[in-house]
Amino acid sequence: MATARLQREARTMEVMLHLYCDDHHAPQPRRSLCEPCAALHEYARKRLAGCPYGPDKPTCANCVIHCYGPRQREAVRQVMRYAGPRMLLRHPVLALAHLLDGRRPAPPKPRGGVTSGRPASPDGGGRV
Ligand code: SF4
Ligand SMILES: [Zn+2]
Repeated sequence: MATARLQREARTMEVMLHLYCDDHHAPQPRRSLCEPCAALHEYARKRLAGCPYGPDKPTCANCVIHCYGPRQREAVRQVMRYAGPRMLLRHPVLALAHLLDGRRPAPPKPRGGVTSGRPASPDGGGRV
């Protein structure tokens, strides 16, 4: 990931997925995600790495491009709805940073596509 903020965003997604997966897909907290959550994590990681906004990336919730496929988008929404409030207790620094990121206005849609990484063309049913 190009910047500390993008690395933090990737870490936030990972932590949220673990919170969700531990409570929904396994009786005990584990070190690794279940298969579907691991696949969603990999999908989100690729989207983030190829985000056409580059370092100016808004939060995905504020994005006007929405490069996620509908299924993955709904799955991430579900994870965030569950994990968001729990993050405040268990990972307050990441949670606060994520809340502050969400208040930043989304930059204009990048022209001509990519400012970093690869284009945000969907590889899992996503749309641009
Ligand atoms: S294009 Fe939008 S939805 Fe896709 S990773 Fe970037 S900010 Fe998130
Ligand atoms: Zn899971």
